[in-house]
Amino acid sequence: MVFSELFAPSRTIMTPGPVEVDPRVLRAMSTPILGQFDPAFTNIMNQVMEMLRQVFQTKNRWAFPIDGTSRSGNEAILCSIIEPGDRVFVPIYGRFGHLLVEICERYGAEVHSMECPWGEVFDPQMVIDEMNKVKPKIVAIVHGETSTGRMQPLKEIGKACREGDILLVVDAVASIGGVQIKTDEWYIDGMIGGTQKCLSVPSGMAPITYNERIENILSARKKVERGIATEEDLQFSRSRQAIASNYFDLSMLQDYWGPRRLNHHTEATSMIYALHEGLRLILAEGLEQRFERHKLHEKALIAGLEAMGLSLFGDPKHKLPCVTCVEIPKDVDGESVRNMLLEQFSIEIASSFGPLHGKIWRIGTMGYSCRKENILSVLGALEAVLIRHGVNVHRGAALQAALDVYNVERLADFSFKKLS
Ligand SMILES: *Cc1c(COP(=O)(O)O)cnc(C)c1O
Repeated sequence: MVFSELFAPSRTIMTPGPVEVDPRVLRAMSTPILGQFDPAFTNIMNQVMEMLRQVFQTKNRWAFPIDGTSRSGNEAILCSIIEPGDRVFVPIYGRFGHLLVEICERYGAEVHSMECPWGEVFDPQMVIDEMNKVKPKIVAIVHGETSTGRMQPLKEIGKACREGDILLVVDAVASIGGVQIKTDEWYIDGMIGGTQKCLSVPSGMAPITYNERIENILSARKKVERGIATEEDLQFSRSRQAIASNYFDLSMLQDYWGPRRLNHHTEATSMIYALHEGLRLILAEGLEQRFERHKLHEKALIAGLEAMGLSLFGDPKHKLPCVTCVEIPKDVDGESVRNMLLEQFSIEIASSFGPLHGKIWRIGTMGYSCRKENILSVLGALEAVLIRHGVNVHRGAALQAALDVYNVERLADFSFKKLS
């Protein structure tokens, strides 16, 4: 059997990940391999740590990627701080809240959760009141819920956690690099980012950061393991058990990423190159400018969709700027529309999960995919495809509305010239 050379068609990817990657990041990935203890490589690792601190907006000592997809970051932080029987509180407002519960349960936590309808978020005070009843050791929550396109306000929750001496772990996989999130200012103890979303780096790494409150637990558990824990250490380890995972043991990863450079795994060389270039591009653009860019293209997309006559899904006050959820019009086969977009226009948009499956499309505007040409392409193509599906859209209105947001000059008066 003869296999053809690898071929991937060029796509416009407007999903909540994986998204398009800047050609400079792809180029960085073809940089020659270096040994993992080569000073040239450890220097790159150190730069990645420093750039991550800036993107996470933290002074934390520890900020480095876990090798694995985004959920590996969630698992690494949670399994390193959860001891069997620990109480963890998880407010759930979409699919990824359920993932947090699942991970916590697998490591022996006693999980308490609360849920709100998909498309909404929690009033922070509700979370705080429930938290005060549950009295957990850890609160684990999603910041940007890609499944519903909502964003949970965290600042008040963070403050209440710190006051109650509760650890706050936040899944910011979908928001980091696209939406404002401040690790230190919002009192977030452990935070997880994702690469294939707003950072616009391929999938396969999960940058994380955590502070001394988490580090205290790690070092206590490590000393317990070695039988050298003091009374002071033991106050940070209730169960006095070692971390169950080897791959995700943050204390071992610290020894690898820190000055001791003790071998743990073999760092994913080409992915580190990609992350390095991706982070460099983000800092060169500027965090604030980048957040503004995401808002601008979101605005143009929404203006276009509404002008076409489509309705958005979910509470508009708590919309995640980088994911726009659109209600599938009545009697339209959402999957058929997505297929036609892909086959005829090489554009990918997403469906959704669970209770929202078949009800909404999700259009991502993340990182390198979040640019004018992509917004205009998806609006034009979606209009054409919906017309092909017999939907009575306001023809021609979507692109004009988006062009208005972009302040594209009108060169002729609005009384259209007749074609002769
Ligand atoms: C995408 C996503 C994840 C999971 O990412 P994987 O890379 O598929 O493991 C977790 N949380 C949120 C909020 C996400 O959007």
